[in-house]
Amino acid sequence: MEVCTVGGFEEVGKNMTAVKIKDDVIIFDAGVYLPAIVEYQEQETESAIPSEEKLRNIGALPDDKVLDKLGWRDKVRAIIVGHAHLDHLGGVPFIAKRYPRAEIIATPFTMAVFDKILEDEKITLRNPRRTVKENSNYIIKGKSGKYLAEFIHTTHSTLQCVFIALHTNEGIFFYALDFKFDNYPVIGAPPNYKKLKEVAKKGIKVLVVDSLYSGTERKTPSERIARDLLEDALSYVKDRNSGLIVTTFSSHIARLKSIVDFGRKTRREIVFLGRSLNKYIRAAIKVNQCPFRKNIKLLNYRKQVNSFLKKADKNRGKYLIVCTGHQAEPGSILDRIVNDDTPLKLKKGDNVIFSSSVIPTTVNINNRDKMDKKLKKKGVRIQTDIHVSGHGAREDLRDLLEILKPKHIIPAHGSLHQETPMVELASELGYKFGETSHLSSNGKVLKL
Ligand SMILES: [Zn+2]
Repeated sequence: MEVCTVGGFEEVGKNMTAVKIKDDVIIFDAGVYLPAIVEYQEQETESAIPSEEKLRNIGALPDDKVLDKLGWRDKVRAIIVGHAHLDHLGGVPFIAKRYPRAEIIATPFTMAVFDKILEDEKITLRNPRRTVKENSNYIIKGKSGKYLAEFIHTTHSTLQCVFIALHTNEGIFFYALDFKFDNYPVIGAPPNYKKLKEVAKKGIKVLVVDSLYSGTERKTPSERIARDLLEDALSYVKDRNSGLIVTTFSSHIARLKSIVDFGRKTRREIVFLGRSLNKYIRAAIKVNQCPFRKNIKLLNYRKQVNSFLKKADKNRGKYLIVCTGHQAEPGSILDRIVNDDTPLKLKKGDNVIFSSSVIPTTVNINNRDKMDKKLKKKGVRIQTDIHVSGHGAREDLRDLLEILKPKHIIPAHGSLHQETPMVELASELGYKFGETSHLSSNGKVLKL
């Protein structure tokens, strides 16, 4: 078995891994590196996502041309996407045409988001598609054999996330990006521990694993804790005439549900703004996973949004506004509101709740710092970090390793610095660095 760690092994983003068994190659995820896109948009003042060539030039796509150099490109039989986040899914619309015979395989929600991206970017693909339910199996037909792929439900921070176990005659390849063990998710079931134990019994050869917070000594709290934090944060908004904005990840449907549930107690009308929220909410509705649809108003286009914000400026106590921009992304609705580029002018006593934490990249840190200063200058009340992460920390990872007992471990989803603590954890559990635990980098091939 050969594993090419194509992207996401030197940064947080553009995740992509390719596995070769004889004459067959299976790709796991093809994401984008979002900070590069944000920076690009800042320079070009362009709102649309650029073309494949531009995305490659700015380092936003995984460098899958390495597969051409390895002679793997014509052998790709499938592209499997584990969940709907853009750092896992967002590259597929741009690279899939390079592998015309590869089936694209994903759960219904992930596929619905994928369809929405294709529609928005006006991209047509000829690749065959396969929508798979969580906790189901699918057989991929290759040249050298058949491969049973198992899609095991896990918890993270969007809907219908799966671990993928690929059964080969050389053992099981197990892909565990992204996850945390959440026994009290707000939407959906807890992780399928039973199935994990069953797969482990069959013998896992290689585990590629989300190691982002492997250096954090804890178990990542449940989404239920974020729900409590939100209930508390919203209960402090007492002034009925003040403005109220909550910003969070648009793909985080469970979090949005909590915002709506407690937002309703403020007796304000709840209005979701913007293209990104629209994309994920529409996908959730399509797969029947949007329990709060009837309690919100969803506005998409800039004209609609601006005419609503004009109303909201005059009657700010009437609405709870939900929008993107928690990383202070230039051009996002929150960024435009803060910069007085919309008819809604924030003033003393208005509230902005960040149901997020700053994703630690220089771009985000600087952008948020600037935004927070502007908000404070206006006298806006800020509540920040009303959030728990969707990525497991060291104790989630220890539990996964103890259940799966893989032969080889490859840490993923971070810089080498972020992946190193995973190697230390593996050492604690008896793995030997360089023999059974491996640090890889983008474009490298491990023969296992
Ligand atoms: Zn994710």
